Amino acid sequence: MNRFAIGALALVAGSIALLGGSVPAPGSQSDPDARAWNQPVKPFHIIGNIYYVGAKEISSFLIVTPRGDVVLNAGYVQTAPQIEANIRSLGFHVADVKILLNSHAHLDHAGGLAELKRVTGARFYASAADAPLLESGGRGDYAFGDKYTFPPIKPDRLLHDGDTVSLGGTTLTARLTPGHTKGCTTWTMNVQADGKQYPVVFACSTSVLQGVRLVNNPLYPGIARDYERAFRVLRSLPCGVFLSDHGWMFHLDAKRQALASGAKPNPFIDPAGYRAYIEKSEAAFLKDLHQQEKEEAGQKPDHPSR
Ligand SMILES: [Zn+2]
Repeated sequence: MNRFAIGALALVAGSIALLGGSVPAPGSQSDPDARAWNQPVKPFHIIGNIYYVGAKEISSFLIVTPRGDVVLNAGYVQTAPQIEANIRSLGFHVADVKILLNSHAHLDHAGGLAELKRVTGARFYASAADAPLLESGGRGDYAFGDKYTFPPIKPDRLLHDGDTVSLGGTTLTARLTPGHTKGCTTWTMNVQADGKQYPVVFACSTSVLQGVRLVNNPLYPGIARDYERAFRVLRSLPCGVFLSDHGWMFHLDAKRQALASGAKPNPFIDPAGYRAYIEKSEAAFLKDLHQQEKEEAGQKPDHPSR
């Protein structure tokens, strides 16, 4: 078992538990993991003006405002029609989607963007640092090369850390949490529920992909510093409602079931789960980093890696 051993996926009581530090590549739709992740699920109201319109493990969120709606993440190419159907089955209109956002430029979150833009006519805002990867349709990814491509999409507006996107009284703030991709974007906003206000964090993936060099990586110099910054930013964010890219990252299945059976308070209000997620993810990153640093030092005793 080498240090890049793929994280094993175990099917546990109908939900996918991720074991180990590294994660599988997002894969293509022909990949069995990808097919399992992309199973359609019933859309539902999460909290405030936020709805879940994604697939089983591939998140997509609809944020509804009086001036039109925002969709964050579009899944695979094959997820886009599911998202459209989910928006309609909740009683909303696909044509009301005015803004498309993305957490990061991998095919399992950006694959359906071009299609959603085509059917909605929405404007697409994305981080400047992920724009080249979005415009190339995933070609030239520092981790995947040209292996996992998707329909290219050009952002209508480029965002930097701290930039905001506002529509109909809702303001989303882009926080750069790079590493997983160079422009990985964590989105934050506030929701009102039961007369209270809660800060929401849509956390961008922080996993280290299989085979990625964190030390002396010519394709991504400074990658380890970027991951460290990502964890620093995530720790600094106030979080009441914790949401993320993949269902298993925020225990979507269990929370959905609890919510449906009337659990109070809303199970998606989970600041402890957010802290636990960051700690677990950071520990996995540090384990990889320290192992690679040790190996580099062993191979080149005269040139310590840091
Ligand atoms: Zn990813």
